[in-house]
Amino acid sequence: MLDPRDLAPDEFRREAEALGVGPEVVRRVSSAVLARGIFDPEVWSGSLQVPKRLTRAIGELERLRLERSIVSPVDGFRKLSFRTGDDLVVETVIIPLHKPGAASICVSSQVGCAMGCRFCATARMARRRNLRTWEILDQFIQARDVARQAGRRPTGVVFMGMGEPFLNYERVLAAADLLRCSWGASIGAKGITISTVGLVPEIDRFTREGHNYRLAVSLGAATDAKRERLVPLAARTPVAEVMAAARRHALARRDRVTLAYVCIAGENMAEEDARALGELIGDTPVRLDLIEVTDPTGIYRAPDAGELKAFRDALTRHVGQPIVRRYSGGKDILAACGTLAGERM
Ligand code: SF4
Repeated sequence: MLDPRDLAPDEFRREAEALGVGPEVVRRVSSAVLARGIFDPEVWSGSLQVPKRLTRAIGELERLRLERSIVSPVDGFRKLSFRTGDDLVVETVIIPLHKPGAASICVSSQVGCAMGCRFCATARMARRRNLRTWEILDQFIQARDVARQAGRRPTGVVFMGMGEPFLNYERVLAAADLLRCSWGASIGAKGITISTVGLVPEIDRFTREGHNYRLAVSLGAATDAKRERLVPLAARTPVAEVMAAARRHALARRDRVTLAYVCIAGENMAEEDARALGELIGDTPVRLDLIEVTDPTGIYRAPDAGELKAFRDALTRHVGQPIVRRYSGGKDILAACGTLAGERM
């Protein structure tokens, strides 16, 4: 079965051409599905004049079942919970942006996550599998509909939901390509961010392949000892190697690489952590994003305003690079970073 959400644009074109269907029609049907969310084969073969042989080859496209849509009364973040065909829960977050009418969609790339970061609810989920490319795309397509109904247009996509995107490398990149392409979702490459907890071979592959999407590398802590405690699997690779890969990426792209740092009170926010971070970063061009931990189990505590200010001041002393506090919203509905756990509904 051909699915324009599951094949790279060129592959879909080749498959359609094998059926004698030209590129213009391919663009029409891809755009109907990806850009406009039209899934009805009657519409394709009617007003869009897609030949029956292609509609038959595509068949009835499977969808994720939207089971719950819940909005935070605090900050307007919205969490969508989907059910897959094999009865797993996938969560997606619509992030309202400051720009009026704009939103970013945070998509999941896996169900559960094998990386086992201690402060992350996704790591505590039992079932694990990679999502298919179409399952990633379908989160976006349905979230876009919901956002539009609320008067917002998605202008960005972040791969920061459930899972480590680079453990599902090919499908994540295929999804990003479909989100970007002009007859797809038309999200600009710079509006697509792929996050990783620091998988060096994949960071290097991403750099080598020359993708224009933004890369965000999440460190957990600046020393190997602390990373072993907080991000044990990722810590199997020394943090200096992760940083070296981030540096190669920044230099190859001639752009700052985003370093995400989860702030956990009493764990990784002392003066010595700021100093270690400064030494680790050196003159690599980065933007340091500070994200306060959200841990519903209460094991890890978010910093209060004073602790955060003290850490920022220390970072200003030790890291001569832009530092941004990234708001992780939707805490009250378990939509914040690290809280997506596909709880049974
Ligand atoms: S923080 Fe990211 S990489 Fe770590 S367990 Fe959670 S989803 Fe996986």
